[in-house]
Amino acid sequence: MTTPKTILVTGGAGYVGSHCVAELLDHGHRVVVFDNLRQGHAAAVPPEAAFVRADLADETALARVFSEWRFDAVFHFAALSVVGDSMRDPHAYLHGNSVTSLNLIRAAVTAGVRKLVFSSTANLFGSPKRIPIDEDEAVDPGSPYGESKFMIERALHWADRCHGLRSACLRYFNAAGAHPNGKLGEDHSPETHLIPLVMDAATGKRPHIEIFGNDYDTRDGTCIRDYIHVCDLADAHLRVLDALEERSVRYNLGNGTGYSVREVISSVERITGRTVPVKVGPRRPGDLPVLIASSERIRRDLGWEPRFPDLDSIIAGAWAWRSAHPHGFRGLAAAAE
Ligand code: UDP
Repeated sequence: MTTPKTILVTGGAGYVGSHCVAELLDHGHRVVVFDNLRQGHAAAVPPEAAFVRADLADETALARVFSEWRFDAVFHFAALSVVGDSMRDPHAYLHGNSVTSLNLIRAAVTAGVRKLVFSSTANLFGSPKRIPIDEDEAVDPGSPYGESKFMIERALHWADRCHGLRSACLRYFNAAGAHPNGKLGEDHSPETHLIPLVMDAATGKRPHIEIFGNDYDTRDGTCIRDYIHVCDLADAHLRVLDALEERSVRYNLGNGTGYSVREVISSVERITGRTVPVKVGPRRPGDLPVLIASSERIRRDLGWEPRFPDLDSIIAGAWAWRSAHPHGFRGLAAAAE
């Protein structure tokens, strides 16, 4: 049993953030969620967590939160996170994500916080030389979104060198699935991710799923991705807290197995027992044919092991959430406002 810690979670009302909050609470830690609710949901914040509705651009609100609590660590999820949007409006991402993160880093350093766990991305690897992709792969961001995450990784590097703020940069591949407690799941607006969109096509909420290109050099012509359960990501966040006693770290987080878009569709059909109408469309700009992580380093260093490694179990969880909450968090009573 570890000693309870007090953790600030920015973006704790969002998809990955809320699952990490649940994991922290399950381990007996105290949690303060800091979220502007522009993308997150108040109903995703459990009553056991303190909730501050504010924006990281608001330095006064940040200073207040750091003066009210003494944090052992910060988990930083709050960010704009849609790759396609970042291609349309790079400034919003390069400016928005970096300024808010720099504010947070400065506030953490000023308050004497020693550890920060950062939600980074596989989008750092826009031109991988080797699959699976390990931590030695050259960083070459695939979009302004990825670039903004890399800018923050660099800021964290210097915050360690100059101020001793230890950080863990966790590069997620494709986060998917839902919490087995049935209370949390994926609810983006607008939704852009494959698995929820395919489920919507299965239920008739959307007329079909469009496959973005079937002429890639892959086993069935569609793109291959590494889908990792959101609770396995949350588990990694808790494990790195201990590693940060020693040094800053960076880890690629995936299952190490790739599934094609068609394989995802087949899995949804198996799990739901429904037929998914499919249309093949053009490639989506910026998509790479294959993205698969090597997570050997975090397995070796921290004994991390995915608890939900296979696609069907990930999709079964996502389906359980989606069928219980067809309108997502809308309509659920806000637990913390
Ligand atoms: N995709 C698709 N149709 C959709 C949404 C996604 O074919 O409506 C494909 C997309 O091209 C990619 C994969 O599904 O190859 C996963 O996309 P997603 O947006 O979920 O995550 P990404 O890999 O872009 O982070």
